[in-house]
Amino acid sequence: MQKSSAKYLDVAVPTPLRRSFQYLPIDGGDEVKIGCRVRIPFGRQRLVGVVIGLSAKPATDPSKLRPITEVLDQEPLLPHALFKLCIWAADYYHHPIGEVLATALPVLLRKGKVRSEPRYKLNATTLGNEIDPLELKRSKRQTALLMLLRADQSLEINDLRKQGFSSSIIKALIEKNLAQWQEIRQEKSASHPPERKNESLIANYQGIEPNPQQRAAISKISSQGTYLVHGITGSGKTEVYLRKIEQTLARGKQVIVLVPEIGLTPQTLSRFTNRFNVTTELIHSGLTDLERLSSWRKAADGTAKIIIGTRSAIFTPLKDPGLLVVDEEHDASFKQQDGFRYSARDLAVMRSHLENIPIILGSATPSLESLRNCATGKYTLIKLTERTGGASIEEYQLIDLRNRKIEGPISEELIAAIASELRSGNQVLVFINRRGFSPVVYCQDCTWIAACNRCDARLTYHLAQGKLICHHCGYITQLVKACGECQSSRLIPLGMGTQRIEETLSASFPEFPVRRIDRDSTRRKGVLEKYLQELKSGQPMLLVGTQILAKGHHFPDVTLVAMLDIDAGFYSADYRSMEKTGQLILQVGGRSGREGKPGKVIIQTQFAQQPILKTLLNEGYDSFAQAILEERESNLLPPYSFHCLMRAESPQRNIAMDFLDAVAEKALSNTSVEMLGPVPASMEKRSGKYRAHLLFSSRSRARLHHAIAEKIKVAEALKQSKRVRWSVDVDPIELL
Ligand code: ADP
Ligand code: ZN
Ligand code: ZN
Repeated sequence: MQKSSAKYLDVAVPTPLRRSFQYLPIDGGDEVKIGCRVRIPFGRQRLVGVVIGLSAKPATDPSKLRPITEVLDQEPLLPHALFKLCIWAADYYHHPIGEVLATALPVLLRKGKVRSEPRYKLNATTLGNEIDPLELKRSKRQTALLMLLRADQSLEINDLRKQGFSSSIIKALIEKNLAQWQEIRQEKSASHPPERKNESLIANYQGIEPNPQQRAAISKISSQGTYLVHGITGSGKTEVYLRKIEQTLARGKQVIVLVPEIGLTPQTLSRFTNRFNVTTELIHSGLTDLERLSSWRKAADGTAKIIIGTRSAIFTPLKDPGLLVVDEEHDASFKQQDGFRYSARDLAVMRSHLENIPIILGSATPSLESLRNCATGKYTLIKLTERTGGASIEEYQLIDLRNRKIEGPISEELIAAIASELRSGNQVLVFINRRGFSPVVYCQDCTWIAACNRCDARLTYHLAQGKLICHHCGYITQLVKACGECQSSRLIPLGMGTQRIEETLSASFPEFPVRRIDRDSTRRKGVLEKYLQELKSGQPMLLVGTQILAKGHHFPDVTLVAMLDIDAGFYSADYRSMEKTGQLILQVGGRSGREGKPGKVIIQTQFAQQPILKTLLNEGYDSFAQAILEERESNLLPPYSFHCLMRAESPQRNIAMDFLDAVAEKALSNTSVEMLGPVPASMEKRSGKYRAHLLFSSRSRARLHHAIAEKIKVAEALKQSKRVRWSVDVDPIELL
């Protein structure tokens, strides 16, 4: 990396401004390298920034430039490829570089904590403990220090200084082999150290021998490139990752595995930690700052060999990168939905290019973007079409709700099917799509529905707590007693939540346990594990759950999956909703069954006649994806075009719209970029703010990129920009 013979430092500062700031080096100070942190005066604040460039020329009047106040790193903090990834991401997502780097760094490093200098304590050696102190009589200070060390083994340099021991006294004891520095064991972290040392890398193959499809996949994945492993649920994708990880570790290299959600998949995690005798770090939002820093350091210095984490783990530095894996690559949680709106999956692909290492994206229901990238040759497609161990594929069946009297949340036909499974000693899973399914409080006299004051949304009725909660802003209130419109007391709950379904099922099947798995019921630690344990016993029971069930778990004794409301996907305004619905159906459906106990999936819907649903169930995901891709192509929607959304919000009505109107006013210089809107967001008011957006679309990424840059300049120059909060979302996945 370049050295700073240059006179001016370009520093990325954690501010929302899309630019870097120039500073002078410390007069007569050490040279500063690109990628090192520096402390800087910024206005009246003192901040920690990162040097991202060195210039020979000043950007403004040099007499106005201020010097940095401290150099925090002698060597760049991030490995070069990761640093480049951050620079690239700031450019690609049009996000301030200072905030991108802040996202990439653990909080403590962001605040200026020393990167990795381990802490040491001074200990007496064996000789030091045994020697007769009188032998040192010529130096009283040395004797005193030695006696102190014999009494207290936990003294660090600062403690010794405080007690008046100079470096030369310490040095003298060390030279006489009477004392030695010993590294203090670092903070506790979320790491899993290997259980047995000095044995082979592999702890245990868990009795698994790859089948021919897996073997083909393993040999196809080479030392570079992007691979999409499209394998049906239970086809053994994880085993493919594990074998590639094994090969990578054998070459002394490290691996990052990104997963959608860590807390929900203890089974999957233990497969990684049980397989290898290496240090594995888990990185997720539940870590303390210190734990996170510790994991970061272990990854950076090469101690940790496997890093498993959610979205932000893509910014983990690696000493010897060897492989990246993104499991469930279609999952929306890889996209950050506020602030720096990056896609961890897409950044992972870019990182693999920059690191020159291979990346595996895996899913039973790949995103249409990734399938398209396979079609154009950017990614290599690998398919696993068989279930391991000869387990059969579940069978799908539709219950057409059209033209039926409403008989309660669950049709009689479905109740009968559930009864028959339970009575044969099997388990049943009832899946509820939380979205569009929450119960509300309704006035029978005037049709009023309790709504949130701060959002354009209805309040959700939570039966167990007797409270009304806004799922968008978190507002909570007691159950209202009177209608807000006509004061009538004839209020009833309408719509079905998981809790009401649970009640209905308990009433229909009093002789079987009914367990509810959703975010409310599993918030308490250990509840999910307890239910999973109960399921493992194989006794007949009912499981009621939400989206959580689509992630990670396998329920071999479940022979019937009932899906109650997938209908929102058919009428939603979001063009991605059908893709998501199809993914959800297969993800949830695939959780059931095993050899000898095939699974059945029954979907109760108003849209049983929809051709796209039939395509999915009769022909499978490939045909389904193909059909949607054709539709997208003819409508020029992603992945056949690229989108960028400019969002704005303000506590006052119209301000956001006016602002975006002003941004949109002048036509773009490039006519191959379309500007759509601005329009109010579909939920215009949320958390007390009025929201609007302006959509940019183009078939050319490069042109879209230029257009955005142009409009950001316009937005920044507008006076109104001070009165709104606005942001840019490249490759948005939700137009909310
Ligand atoms: P996926 O990730 O594709 O859903 P998994 O890798 O979780 O599938 O595999 C499903 C189950 O099959 C796991 O319990 C796994 O241990 C087992 N399995 C995977 N590969 C094999 C194999 N070749 N032979 C026997 N069992 C296997
Ligand atoms: Zn009323
Ligand atoms: Zn609200």
